[in-house]
This record gives sequence, C-alpha cells and structure tokens, in this order.
Amino acid sequence: MTVLLIGGLDSSTGAGLARDLAVMCDHDMTARVAATAVTAQDSAGGCSIHPIPATLVAAQIRAAGQVRAAKTGMLANADIVHAIAETLPEVPFVIDPVLATSAGAKLLERAGCAAMIARLIPRATLVTPNLLEAAQLTGLKSDAEIATLAAGFFAMGARAVLIKGGHADGPEAVDWLLRPGSAPLRFASSRKPGSRRGTGCTLASAIAVHLARGHDLATACEYAKRYLSDWL
Ligand code: PLP
Repeated sequence: MTVLLIGGLDSSTGAGLARDLAVMCDHDMTARVAATAVTAQDSAGGCSIHPIPATLVAAQIRAAGQVRAAKTGMLANADIVHAIAETLPEVPFVIDPVLATSAGAKLLERAGCAAMIARLIPRATLVTPNLLEAAQLTGLKSDAEIATLAAGFFAMGARAVLIKGGHADGPEAVDWLLRPGSAPLRFASSRKPGSRRGTGCTLASAIAVHLARGHDLATACEYAKRYLSDWL
C-alpha cells in the first residue's frame, strides 16, 4: 500500500516532503514522492525557492505507479498545478493548501492559487486550510464563521474541508470538518506550548495514510488528529 506525496523539499526538514516522509515511516506506509520545489530555509526565516520543471513533476507522478491515496503540499506555481491535474490518478487525495511559510515566504504564486482552486480543489477528497489560508483562498476574513469559510470552499466545488484552528487562541486546538449536507464535526486537542513547524504537513499526511487504509474521512481525521497531538 503506497501514498503519493507531492510537495516541496524544505532544507531544514521541519516541513514539506521530509516531514511527510517521517509521518509515513511512523505509520509503516510506503511512499512515492513528486517534488515540486527545492527550498533553502534557515532559522531566520530566509527562504530561497527553485521550482522543479512541471514536466518533471508529471514524470515523478507517472513513475509512482499505483498508489492508494495522495497528498499535496507546496505547489509553487500554476504550471506545476496543471501538470498535477493532468497526471494525478483517481485516488482519494488531501490538499494541504500551503500558501506561505510560517515566516511569511510565499510558496504558491497567485496564478498557481487560481489553478489549484479551479483544477484540484473540486477533485480532492479533503482540503485542510488553517484559518489564514481559508481566508486568503475564499476572500473572506479569518474571523468569519467557520460555516461561512466552508461555504466559500463549497462554492469552489470542494467536497469536504477541514478548517484548522491551531493558530487561534484558547486552551484547545479545534479543527472543524465540514461537508455539504452533513453536520459539522469537531476535533479538539489540548493546545501544546510553542509553535512547532510542520503541523499542517503532519496532519494532512496522516489523513492520507488513513484514507489509503480505507477509513472513512471522519475516522481518518480523528486518527490523524490524535497522531498529531501525540507528536506535538
Ligand atoms: N516549506 C515547505 C516546503 C512546506 O511544504 C511547508 C508547509 O507545508 C512550509 C515550508 C511551511 O511550513 P511552516 O508553516 O511549518 O513554516
């Protein structure tokens, strides 16, 4: 059983493909990768980016062969998004809509954002934005009601959205799973001190593992949230 990981290489290994692969290791899951960019990230927040040619991203996806689920992270630019849309097999997949590093470096160009919305979000099993990403992608405010933010994703054709409250305040980190026509599901864990990098990558990768194993979406989110909380 194999999961395909599509994303960027973070030289610090705190986030991106190196983090995704650590999650696969923890779950005894085989992986294939399609690297979208190589980045040099330092502890001062510096970030240099070299995107991979879209034809090579497509070749990596084709070379992966049969996979049971996929997960996307950093997508860099529109050419890469189109290449993914054209080669990604029809398997459950999770989009972690990574737009920037915690330090603020941009990881997806504006045209890439539009391409992700048009071509990938309507096909995904789940999109996992944090509140800031949800606001940026929908054009709403990050303090808008969760249901309003989710409606913005449903208007793009999203089938399900997990809105992550990890960056909000309060004693608990609360994520909401929303699907059109279903009651919202709440996933909470106690908030851990500090701000560790790679939490979004970790959660989305773990959800992809559980989808590959055949769990339904709610169960996959619940198991992944528990795994993330233990890791933190
Ligand atoms: N760099 C890469 C390649 C990533 O994929 C991500 C997130 O997915 C980040 C950086 C951002 O990570 P963080 O929010 O932990 O800074």
